[in-house]
Amino acid sequence: MKRIAVLTSGGDAPGMNAAIRAAVRYAIADGMSVCGIQRGYSGLLQNEFVEMNMRSVSDIVQRGGTVLRTARSREFMTDEGLATAVNNLSSHGIEGLIVIGGDGSFRGAKNLSECGIPTIGIPGTIDNDLGYTDYTLGFDTACNTVLDAINKLRDTMSSHDRICIIEVMGRNCGDLALYAGIGGGAELILVPEIKMGIEEIVGELRSYRDKGKYSSIIVLSEGAGKAPELREQIITRLGASVRATVLGHLQRGGSPSCRDRMLGADFGVKAVKLLKQNIGNRVVGVHDGKIFDMDIMEGVAVKKVFDYDLYNMANVINNSTVNS
Ligand code: ATP
Repeated sequence: MKRIAVLTSGGDAPGMNAAIRAAVRYAIADGMSVCGIQRGYSGLLQNEFVEMNMRSVSDIVQRGGTVLRTARSREFMTDEGLATAVNNLSSHGIEGLIVIGGDGSFRGAKNLSECGIPTIGIPGTIDNDLGYTDYTLGFDTACNTVLDAINKLRDTMSSHDRICIIEVMGRNCGDLALYAGIGGGAELILVPEIKMGIEEIVGELRSYRDKGKYSSIIVLSEGAGKAPELREQIITRLGASVRATVLGHLQRGGSPSCRDRMLGADFGVKAVKLLKQNIGNRVVGVHDGKIFDMDIMEGVAVKKVFDYDLYNMANVINNSTVNS
């Protein structure tokens, strides 16, 4: 394979630029030429191809977001859209493609592979909601962003004996709440995988108060509820001073952590190595610290398993009132 392309698709995530940079530089060093496609599958349909060289990925490893920009495209999901995409890739001499995104983007990558354009998927999403890989690009950075917010909110909440609810992203996956909640010592971690009723939540807070602890941090995964609503419910039942903070999109930005930069580099290089061997229809991932690849649809089909042991451990170590 002599000429490949790379695009980012779906939601952006810190570390995508590190993956782009690694893929571009490794491919060029290996004798290939590389095109960047702007705005994901949408740009692919609009012929938004840019020639990449070693310098075009300078000074991006430390930047969040994606320099190629990203988009969602309904048109690409139609037969006509797919045919246009294949045609545009062929007319630019592209023999293989790297797609950095989530499971939706991977389904598109599978379609392209089946149409004769070997395509490799790199997992990029802060949600860590892909079951086949231990970690996705951007998750570690987002955890650190949430952690920073927890630290700051704890300062002010404990000064006022307040309860703070911090709503974090993750869609239907509680990993971001769980990891940041453990790191930040949250008194309660609410995730979509474990249902907890309002009476149980208030019961926990009441037991803290009974033991003289008036300030608590609740990390609430967006899939488990809305912070303003939970605030009202707690105030009604407990009469406590409660504040709600929805972190929102700031969790998606920021300079990637070292871990996400490393992961981006490893994923990008692995994807190029596969394409070099004319191998497509694969996703790359990491398991037990090792980079691996597998069939796209097999990867997408792996069910995400929540780490209940980690959750139970958090409940013990973050609960200072146990046996006190
Ligand atoms: P994120 O996790 O950030 O949402 P994602 O890759 O899952 O990332 P989607 O919006 O689901 O984000 O998908 C991105 C794009 O991939 C879509 O806009 C569409 O162009 C393409 N895509 C999604 N699902 C499919 C599908 N089933 N078949 C073909 N293409 C798809």
